[in-house]
Amino acid sequence: MAQGLVTVAYIAASILFILALSGLSKQETARRGNVFGIAGMAIAIVATIAAPQVVSYAIIAPAMIIGALIGGYVAKKVEMTGMPQLVAILHSFVGLAAVLVGINSYIDPNSVFTGIEKTIHEVEIFLGVFIGAITFTGSVIAYGKLDGRISGTPLMLPFRHGINAGAVFICLLLGYWFLGVEDHGGIWLLLLMTLIAFAVGAHLVMGIGGADMPVVVSMLNSYSGWAAAATGFMLGNDLLIVTGALVGSSGAILSYIMCRAMNRHFVAVILGGFGTGGGASAAVEGEAVPTSHDNVAEMLSEANEVIIVPGYGMAVAQAQQTVSEITRRLKAKGVNVRFAIHPVAGRLPGHMNVLLAEAKVPYDIVLEMEEINEDFAKTDVVLVIGANDIVNPAAQDDPNSPIAGMPVLECWNARTTVVLKRSMATGYAGVDNPLFYKDNTRMLFGDAKESLDLVLSKIES
Ligand code: NDP
Repeated sequence: MAQGLVTVAYIAASILFILALSGLSKQETARRGNVFGIAGMAIAIVATIAAPQVVSYAIIAPAMIIGALIGGYVAKKVEMTGMPQLVAILHSFVGLAAVLVGINSYIDPNSVFTGIEKTIHEVEIFLGVFIGAITFTGSVIAYGKLDGRISGTPLMLPFRHGINAGAVFICLLLGYWFLGVEDHGGIWLLLLMTLIAFAVGAHLVMGIGGADMPVVVSMLNSYSGWAAAATGFMLGNDLLIVTGALVGSSGAILSYIMCRAMNRHFVAVILGGFGTGGGASAAVEGEAVPTSHDNVAEMLSEANEVIIVPGYGMAVAQAQQTVSEITRRLKAKGVNVRFAIHPVAGRLPGHMNVLLAEAKVPYDIVLEMEEINEDFAKTDVVLVIGANDIVNPAAQDDPNSPIAGMPVLECWNARTTVVLKRSMATGYAGVDNPLFYKDNTRMLFGDAKESLDLVLSKIES
């Protein structure tokens, strides 16, 4: 393929990626956004492998086939509940790729840069490898935490900020020496910096507590974008620069939105430690009152206003289809049913929206926290399905709670709140929930899907 044609293909792919991002910002257009993204990526791959610089397919072809087979298998096999871990581990690949390309680019015997061009190229390499290495180990640790292989409790080493700052300072020093070395003699400095950056990435994410993981996932997404952009500069590949910048900036914006949703400062998240519970949180007292499927079905059928609050447990139980059917039946009876979505419900930004869309719940009854939080006071029944941290009043009432200050869905203001979960266990942040002991709360114990199937069978169609 002629270079001119490759450039045209890169521009087309860039436009498709921008359209994909704008499509993904709304539920109604998300599917179309995905199609744009797939088309853009297909064009980008074809243009890259058909570019004049590629002289042999002996290595690329088998690598692509093996990669495509593994990717296809993993995508088919992964459960919706495993998506956050998958996203985290995929970010680690981008980071590792940036490290490998950077080191390779440095030792490339065909590299012809001299003077200021050489310095700029080496800065790109050093930065790309640094960001890539942090992204790699940070994402692997995030994967471990999200998958439950590593404890969600933050690792609080003494002088941890000092350790991180010292490590970054040493990397800067290594970078300064690296730029002064002739030919490829700086490889040891580059490799030493890579090892230090690996340790910084792992230490940074180990220090971040369970409750801050949503921000970490989007932050690593952003880092992986910047690592890709740096790789684009190293390779002189415009499409990689544009794509990396799109991912980097959209990830940064998402991190900002998540921080705002959790009333947290971005810097405080990066510095870590949230979720350890600085003081002793207030002891939760009282008795939780269980209820039956018949009672819940009756309450729902007789209500005028119902709000459903889905959480991670709905994803685990795969209860979304039953929820959708219950909604349909209640609406047919004239009950006004709406959904309240907390920005960090589940384990992935937009997790609940995806599940509800899959179950064909109409978009116009699915509302964001700030659109619906004031309406709980005039609601008859709230159905909390496998949600815990996002409906925890301790976030507002207990300044010592590890989640103090996080905005939550104020479902306790409704006439009755029914909580569906299997036990009295805590949620992701590991915090007790006083909601379960309130006078107007009823607990419906059991797997959410099984409980809702029974409730559905008792609501007349
Ligand atoms: P939580 O993790 O706080 O609570 C989920 C609840 O679901 C648990 O208490 C569990 O109780 C219950 N549950 C689990 N399985 C089932 C089942 N099969 N049937 C019924 N109930 C079940 O979830 P929330 O959605 O309320 O909050 C999300 C949390 O995850 C927040 O702390 C957030 O910070 C964090 N997080 C969010 C991310 C995001 O991007 N959205 C990313 C990473 C973390 P029991 O075991 O008793 O059934």
